Amino acid sequence: MKIIKYCSTRGNADLATSAEAIIKGLAPDSGLYVPNEAIIPFKTTRLPSGDYRNIAAIIFRIFLSDYSFAEIENAVLAAYNINNFDHPLITPLCKLSGDLFVAELWHGPTYAFKDIALQILPYLLRTAVQKKGEKSEIIILTATSGDTGKSALEGFRDVPGTRIIVYFPGNGVSEVQKLQMTTQEGSNVSVTAVKGNFDDTQYGVKKIFNDQKLAIRLASAGYRLSSANSINWGRLLPQIVYYFATYNELVSRGEIKPGERVNYVVPTGNFGNILAGYYARQLGLPVRKLICAANRNNVLSDFLNSGHYNSRRPLYRTSSPSMDILISSNLERLLYELNGHDPERLSAWMNDLSERGEYRVDEKTLSRIQDLFWSDYADEIETGHAIADIYRNYNYLIDTHTAVGKTVFDKYLAFESEKCPTVLFSTASPFKFAGSVTRALLGCNQYQDKTEFELLDILARETNTTIPINLAGLNRKPVKHEQVIEPDRMCDHLLSSISLS
Ligand SMILES: *Cc1c(COP(=O)(O)O)cnc(C)c1O
Repeated sequence: MKIIKYCSTRGNADLATSAEAIIKGLAPDSGLYVPNEAIIPFKTTRLPSGDYRNIAAIIFRIFLSDYSFAEIENAVLAAYNINNFDHPLITPLCKLSGDLFVAELWHGPTYAFKDIALQILPYLLRTAVQKKGEKSEIIILTATSGDTGKSALEGFRDVPGTRIIVYFPGNGVSEVQKLQMTTQEGSNVSVTAVKGNFDDTQYGVKKIFNDQKLAIRLASAGYRLSSANSINWGRLLPQIVYYFATYNELVSRGEIKPGERVNYVVPTGNFGNILAGYYARQLGLPVRKLICAANRNNVLSDFLNSGHYNSRRPLYRTSSPSMDILISSNLERLLYELNGHDPERLSAWMNDLSERGEYRVDEKTLSRIQDLFWSDYADEIETGHAIADIYRNYNYLIDTHTAVGKTVFDKYLAFESEKCPTVLFSTASPFKFAGSVTRALLGCNQYQDKTEFELLDILARETNTTIPINLAGLNRKPVKHEQVIEPDRMCDHLLSSISLS
């Protein structure tokens, strides 16, 4: 089997093995790791099949060249089982209408798709640490727009040799998301609100990663930073699997013929989920279009349609907070891949972005992007209508992020007349965003003075469903993490939380 190593998109770091890339998270030159070798696609007739674990193991084997098969198999079995996921298929597929299927990616412990990667990342990381004989304690430093934080906390709580430190935007997450994090139990966890939005929080975390003096200081005290954000290859890789698993499910149900092309609709923020779709396509998955759905913070849909990335705009708070992002980190990987791995070109764009808040790609790059992707956005009213319509027409509840996806898919259909089977990724349980979902379903006025937890009960009652087990009673759990800090204090805070200041 071919050995895959990883190179940095910025071109100033040594090649890394997969274990090294997963331990480091971000490359030392601030670039992102991508596979250095060309990916050999599966033959259409020989796509990975079997159950979720099988498909995962086949895909991991390609990208984790320095892991043994036993190591991969152990990780897959430990992560993808019915103790961690409340559905045996892990990512079950629900047929909504003729050609449209919803892939529910939220059956993990925290009810967002992030669990699929973050349930397995700790195993991949621990194996990597053992392989490299790494002695340092690994600090998983995480910025979250709401869902990654809780997922990472659940994945890494009490994992020996690790600490997990989460920063979330104090006023950028839903009430449920916030309480999920601030009530977190575990002996190695730290959760802190940052005054500001997600971009401020992500910026602060990136600054810590890029601080070479700090890295040296941490190293001499026996610590090493790593990341649970989708900048880490170990976060992205597991997300490739469900593209194949859902495709395989469509084939085995006889909904499509083997080799038939399928659209994937992906509610997008940091461009991690949809980038995994790009890699799935490189691996030979018959993907027609990757449909990138943005919310009112439509920096990505503007970019994918014009080639001009412009982050100089206000960041709105929306009902799909996990997509309230203006700097989509993983776009860097796509641009690098589509430009023949040219770090100079990529660095020029990324420098423009950090200095001027914008960059513009050339026509050739844009047309390559548009061969693969289609994009639009949904505003708040459209998002609410999508939730209500889907419930009325199909008696099926979707969350706000998925509703953004559905709205954008309808826009795509208005534009593209040729019919094609389509998988809409449902990225969170509707109960995770019960406030917005209930208001969309039952109208605003009646429920104005209710808390999100009262709305959780109302949603379950009115739709005759049950509140997922880890959310019921969440508002009665003791809050363990109450600290709020200014963004410029994040580094000091990190040091004090490991008693180094
Ligand atoms: C994180 C998240 C997204 C966005 O995914 P990206 O990989 O950041 O593009 C969409 N929906 C939900 C519910 C999320 O938690």
